[in-house]
Amino acid sequence: MAKQRVLITGGAGFLGSHLCDRFIREGFHVIAMDNLITGDLRNIEHLFKLADFEFYHHDVSTFVHIPGKLHYILHFASPASPIDYLKIPIQTLKVSSLGTHNLLGLARAKKSRILVASTSEVYGDPLVHPQVEEYYGNVNPIGPRGVYDEAKRFQEAITMAYHTYHHLETRIIRIFNTYGPRMRLNDGRVLPAFIGQALRGEDLTVFGDGTQTRSFCFVDDEVEGIFRLLMSDYHLPMNIGNPNEITIGDFAEEIVRLTGTKQKVIYKPLPVDDPKQRRPDITKAKEILGWEPKVSRSEGLKITYDYFKSLPHEVLFERDHKNFQKYVR
Ligand code: UDP
Repeated sequence: MAKQRVLITGGAGFLGSHLCDRFIREGFHVIAMDNLITGDLRNIEHLFKLADFEFYHHDVSTFVHIPGKLHYILHFASPASPIDYLKIPIQTLKVSSLGTHNLLGLARAKKSRILVASTSEVYGDPLVHPQVEEYYGNVNPIGPRGVYDEAKRFQEAITMAYHTYHHLETRIIRIFNTYGPRMRLNDGRVLPAFIGQALRGEDLTVFGDGTQTRSFCFVDDEVEGIFRLLMSDYHLPMNIGNPNEITIGDFAEEIVRLTGTKQKVIYKPLPVDDPKQRRPDITKAKEILGWEPKVSRSEGLKITYDYFKSLPHEVLFERDHKNFQKYVR
């Protein structure tokens, strides 16, 4: 029997590349698509030799064409770190709005089921804690994060509209902070930032007073949640993340202990609209998908640290991704 075919946008990125691995393991034919602004072919190099893997170098914000059948689409293309979307705000807005529209159109044409990657950022700086899916959020549309948050909120709206109006099979996942091997060391997010600083012998930069909280989910757990949601019949937004919450100050101390660095923790100004607290309520994921995270932070951090340690020296000192400059004006 012919294999089921899945399109994974952002397939060369952190989550996208882990999804490519998972769908290959599950026996799918995988088509990865990426424009490589923030994605990196090194993440999927090991898949190129496989007959059931294809790569399209394409920007989903422009018309997407895939020959042949397509059973599933996973839309994971987007810059995902605050410093990335500050540098490329227009592309960030386009990929989750125009890009999502193109992929919904493709899903209609191919009769595919589509899962879109939404985010805890739809809750903004949340006034409800932990965040339940019914909470509408507290987002500043014109702040520096607005380009990401509002594009993702639009993505949810248009996905629901295609579900209701065109009866498309849609899934919406709200992803909370996720970490693991293949994060970009220079993407500015807190975990690669701290580990990169420790490995380069720099001080660890905590933004603000370090009392803001986040809840970190290991990538294997996140991918399991994504897979289960896709295969479920649940079409409303669902939180997938690890509810184990920690302050950024304590997290810095954990990284100091993990890496054994002798450097100090120093304090820098808190970025505008940086959420003060974030923790998913995962009651729905537990009840509907039978999913909950399995990997503890200490296990996950060890795996991630071993990965970063194994990178070539020049990667440790790369400031920007090589393709980034041509997009930043
Ligand atoms: N942060 C920090 N030092 C850094 C990078 C980030 O203290 O070098 C903080 C940041 O201000 C935020 C938290 O860590 O409060 C998580 O930031 P990240 O960029 O990883 O993602 P966010 O959850 O804000 O989207």
